[in-house]
Amino acid sequence: MYLEKTTWPHVAAYLEKGGDFAVLAVGSLEEHGRHNPLGTDNIAPNLLLDLMDERLYDQILIAPTVSYGNCDDLVGFPGTLTIGYDLLRDLVARITDQLFDYGVRRFLIVNGHGPNIKPLSEVCESLNRRGALAGLANWWLMAGELNPAWGGGHGGAEETAAVMAADPSLVDTSAYGPMDLVNDISDELPTDGWSNVLFEGAHVGFPRDAVRFFGNGWIGPDDPTKADPEWGTQMMQGVAGCLVDLVGAMQRAPLPKPMPVRTYRAWAGHAMGSDAGEKGGEA
Ligand SMILES: [Zn+2]
Repeated sequence: MYLEKTTWPHVAAYLEKGGDFAVLAVGSLEEHGRHNPLGTDNIAPNLLLDLMDERLYDQILIAPTVSYGNCDDLVGFPGTLTIGYDLLRDLVARITDQLFDYGVRRFLIVNGHGPNIKPLSEVCESLNRRGALAGLANWWLMAGELNPAWGGGHGGAEETAAVMAADPSLVDTSAYGPMDLVNDISDELPTDGWSNVLFEGAHVGFPRDAVRFFGNGWIGPDDPTKADPEWGTQMMQGVAGCLVDLVGAMQRAPLPKPMPVRTYRAWAGHAMGSDAGEKGGEA
C-alpha cells in the first residue's frame, strides 16, 4: 500500500499485525538522451512499484519515491538536477530510520540510477548492522540478467522501452539520433564509454562532466530506435515478478543479528579470534 494514499490507522493496523516490510524507490532527474524524459529513472521504478502493489497490496508499505539522485556528472544538460552523494545517502537514511522506528525491519530499495548504488549501499549496510534486512534492487541490471535481450545502457533501448511501457507518449521518437560521443580530450585519448577513453586497447577513466563528451546523452550498446512498448511491458512485468518473489523470500528470511560495527566479522560467525573486535572487522 502506498503511504501517500492510505491513512495512519491503516498503517498502524499493518504494523500491529506484524507487518514489517517497506519498499522505497530511488531515482534521479537527469538527461537520458534527446528522446527520453528527464524523469526516466523515476518513471521506470514507479511502474515496477505499481505492478508490485497490485500483487502485494496489504503486505508492503510503499514510501514516496525519492525522485532526485546522485548525478553530478550530468549537470550541464538543462533540467538535470542532482542532490549529490552525501545528501542522497542522508535523505534515504533519514527516511528508512523513521520506518525502522515504526517497526519496519525489511527494506527493499528499488533503484533506477547507477551512481545511486554506492550511497544506497551505505544505507543498507547501516540498516543491516542494526538488525534489518535491506535489499538493493537495481532494476535495469536485474533486467539484463533475467533476460540478456533486455539489458542496456543509459537512455538506450532498455530504458526507452521501460518509459514506453509506462506511457509511450513520453518518448520523443522524432528526436532519435546517434550516440554522438565527442573526443573532447585529444585524438590520442578518444572517448569510449562513460567517462572512459580507450588507450592502447585498454580503458582508462577520465572522470569529468558528461556534457563534455556526450553529443546526445544516451550511451550503450542498445540503440534506442530498437525499443518498443512490447519489449518494455514484457521486461517490466518480468522484473516486477522477480521483485514480488524477492519480497516473499525476504519475508521468509530470518532477520540479521544486530551487531556493533567493529566486531561484525565475529558476529557473522567467521573465525577471527577473540581480538577481532579490537582489530576491526573489515580487512
Ligand atoms: Zn537511467
